[in-house]
Amino acid sequence: MDTRLWKRKFLDFFWPPVCAHCRRDLPGGESGALCLSCRAELIPLEPPFCLRCADVSQLSRGFCVSCRNKKFACRLIRAAFLYRGPVHSWVYSFKYRGRFPAAREAGRLMVRHWARFRELLAPEILVPVPLHFRRENERGYNQAEILARAISKETGIPVLNPIIRTRKTRPQWELDKKSREQNIAGAFKVARPGDVWGRRIVVIDDVCTTGFSLEACARELRRSGAADVCAYAFAREI
Ligand SMILES: [Zn+2]
Ligand SMILES: [Zn+2]
Repeated sequence: MDTRLWKRKFLDFFWPPVCAHCRRDLPGGESGALCLSCRAELIPLEPPFCLRCADVSQLSRGFCVSCRNKKFACRLIRAAFLYRGPVHSWVYSFKYRGRFPAAREAGRLMVRHWARFRELLAPEILVPVPLHFRRENERGYNQAEILARAISKETGIPVLNPIIRTRKTRPQWELDKKSREQNIAGAFKVARPGDVWGRRIVVIDDVCTTGFSLEACARELRRSGAADVCAYAFAREI
């Protein structure tokens, strides 16, 4: 048996080829995070949504309540899908269960959906939202970086990691909206400002919930001279 087959069998043992959402075995020949019927339930993020943050609630003249008449370092946020149903399970599979191929597949899908969002312009670099080094050590990887690298492989846009997380924050999902903003404020720093000065940047993340982490990263990047900062996530929680 050749090495690749051994590797496949090893992976199948730990990660049996089942759909990450409905847990049914994937039929022979099908691979990937989801079966075809769960895949058909993915809901792309589509207009009308807030022109800035892509939220869909309480829109007025193109903007949601939080974005109306305010200025942001992160010019806009877009995502491939709504964070619902099978997308939850998909993200869970690569965020907490170590299914890297599912993250790479998500990154490739983000590239396909990117074409719908010309307003992201053509960035010069992709910057994944960093994890605190201690959390990255615990998890063994940063899922946002796997997404960014998969996007980079298809588009040729380089990935840089100029931002460091200066302190470990509590997971955002544990907190209410007000505490989330305080939790993340000042948690990032640009270690090498020269890398981002004058550049057009898209920050990459798996899920955008309130957009506070993206805004905190963007603020630091702009402070270091980045010309434009947008964000693109696999999924938008709404
Ligand atoms: Zn399924
Ligand atoms: Zn908004």
